[in-house]
Amino acid sequence: MLDETHDPQLRSWVESANEPLADFPIQNLPFCRFRRPGEERTRAGVAIGDQVLDIGEDWGIASVAAVMAMPAAARTDLRRRLSRHLANYTPGADRFLYPVREIELLLPCEIGNYTDFYASLHHATNVGALFRTGNPLAPNYKWIPIAYHGRASSVVVSGTPVRRPWGQVAEDRAGPPVFTPSRKLDYEVELGAFLGPGNRLGEPIRADQAFDHIAGVVLLNDWSARDIQVWEYQPLGPFLSKSFATSISPWIVTTGALEPFRCVPEPRPTGDPQPLPYLCAGSRDAFDIVLELWLRSPHMQGPVMLSRGRFRSMYWTLTQMLAHHTSNGCPICPGDLIGSGTVSGPEKSNRGCLLELTARGAEPVALPSGEKREFLEDGDEVTLRGWCEAPGFRRIGLGECRGVIEPAIAYLS
Ligand code: CA
Repeated sequence: MLDETHDPQLRSWVESANEPLADFPIQNLPFCRFRRPGEERTRAGVAIGDQVLDIGEDWGIASVAAVMAMPAAARTDLRRRLSRHLANYTPGADRFLYPVREIELLLPCEIGNYTDFYASLHHATNVGALFRTGNPLAPNYKWIPIAYHGRASSVVVSGTPVRRPWGQVAEDRAGPPVFTPSRKLDYEVELGAFLGPGNRLGEPIRADQAFDHIAGVVLLNDWSARDIQVWEYQPLGPFLSKSFATSISPWIVTTGALEPFRCVPEPRPTGDPQPLPYLCAGSRDAFDIVLELWLRSPHMQGPVMLSRGRFRSMYWTLTQMLAHHTSNGCPICPGDLIGSGTVSGPEKSNRGCLLELTARGAEPVALPSGEKREFLEDGDEVTLRGWCEAPGFRRIGLGECRGVIEPAIAYLS
């Protein structure tokens, strides 16, 4: 619901939050976890401009996971109180404010479980066409929000280097394979959603209630080793080609902050089946979020944008993913993370991974430095950015999610 926290005229006494292009104006208020220099303990915070407000001390909030565990109404109430606090200066209000550049940002929440979906029809069709002629989509695609269970243990915060993984790779699809560092390392531009409060074992979350269990979103890069993936994925799906690293941004932008950017999903193509009743959620369950991918090689001064997509173009919404995930009674816990799947759109400029953008390496991307890329090389820096704009509302940003590729470890060589 829209309320006074979304008023575009609202300003903060933290001046940097009032810059027109600031990612974190007072209308945003994303949650983060951080550590101060020389301290062991972690703190829960809220970003405002280029500062972070510690909400542990005065606000009595033990952790970001505790925020995820709140019912939706309590999260809305907390957002209103934080907004008032940061709009109206009272003496001492800046006591628990720390500049972002002076703190260490951690994963924004402790993550119990991580599941990655495959919810972009454009992505699934493009990738399917690269590997299967005739029928690019599996017969279940338009009925089921497809997913696989990922590894929470290798989800890392933006800025963490990503080491090129080793794995089994087969030149010929029939084998035999060799064990080698991956030569086809890729990124995937995704949106992640932090969940809570969740459900009990055996009790599904209905689609019309699922929205209240999506606490907020982050940028997510599902690093993928395509050569390992193509050899291992049948019949049970991706495994070691994905589980070596997943990067996320340090800021959980709440569904409360995203309210002005909620929208109706793009209509399904004519002739597509309607979702089964248990997947029929509210009509405004999509979010209009722009997602950009920037690449910088060690030979480039600044990064270049390789793609820009819109999250509203997804075939399945986050509420449908959550309703499906719990439909068999599987419990969701506060701080669980889901990935949306690669966000791609109808145009080439919307393609959210190199596999699609270069047609499996057949059409390399030209960089301003004169270099070409089929897949990622050591030293490449990959950065996701995201933001939302709508007439009559303040622009908000998701920050960035960055990772640099490190050479494979000397392992068997
Ligand atoms: Ca993925």
